[in-house]
Amino acid sequence: MAAVSLLEVRAARKRFGGIQAVRDVSLMLEAGEIRAIIGPNGAGKTTLLNMISGRLMPDSGQLIFKGKDITRLRAWQRVMRGIVYTFQITSIFPRLSCYDNVALAVQRRIMSGWRDRLALPDHRLAPEVERALALVGLAEAMSEPAGELSYGHQRLIELAMGLALNPSLLILDEPTQGLAPSEISSFCALIRSAAERMTILLIEHNMSVVLELATKVTVMDRGSVLAEGEPLFIERHPAVKHAYLGS
Ligand code: ATP
Repeated sequence: MAAVSLLEVRAARKRFGGIQAVRDVSLMLEAGEIRAIIGPNGAGKTTLLNMISGRLMPDSGQLIFKGKDITRLRAWQRVMRGIVYTFQITSIFPRLSCYDNVALAVQRRIMSGWRDRLALPDHRLAPEVERALALVGLAEAMSEPAGELSYGHQRLIELAMGLALNPSLLILDEPTQGLAPSEISSFCALIRSAAERMTILLIEHNMSVVLELATKVTVMDRGSVLAEGEPLFIERHPAVKHAYLGS
């Protein structure tokens, strides 16, 4: 069966002052992939993901999602179309319960385009919020204040905030950063099961996570795509080793 293209990035560029953070990057994401973006510090990974989520507008280039041009859509409009990026942990309200944190995130995302309208009623929110918390294994902690959870569990709340929106494309920026090894293996299992329902695009520095999870890897260096392919191919790629190790 022919692969279905979910997202196409065409020659995207972004400059910050004197720094060309992303230069003519093109990539194609197929539905159902788990795509890892790797590369040394400053390679342009976060900038690229921010252009896909709509947090940043490209200087030039085009983004096509499900066959439609989304290049000029704002972040919340992309959320409505199924592109969701996870919040950073700093957006968690420590005194509010896990449930309220996820519910608020969903409200904020969905309603941000209609600033002054009423909030969604709880009966519309509750099933999604509860399902997302159950998916990340935090159903039992639903009423606990989020600030009392371990760091790893707080990151899972962040993930639940994304899952509760039922995205077609979920974008995660360094999701395993700061997790303990045992938390990393349950995170990988969680992402694999989420990938049965959605496409995942993540920046990941931990190569063992990349090798275990990714169906395809894109390597960036100095704003450009250096290599792309299956994880084992990428692991052995001389240019990739050079970019990372300088030799
Ligand atoms: P890291 O792995 O360190 O997070 P990265 O591959 O995600 O790096 P980016 O964060 O996209 O890289 O940054 C690419 C380049 O653009 C870097 O040189 C960075 O300093 C610069 N940059 C990123 N965001 C901004 C900004 N808002 N203003 C100015 N320069 C920026």
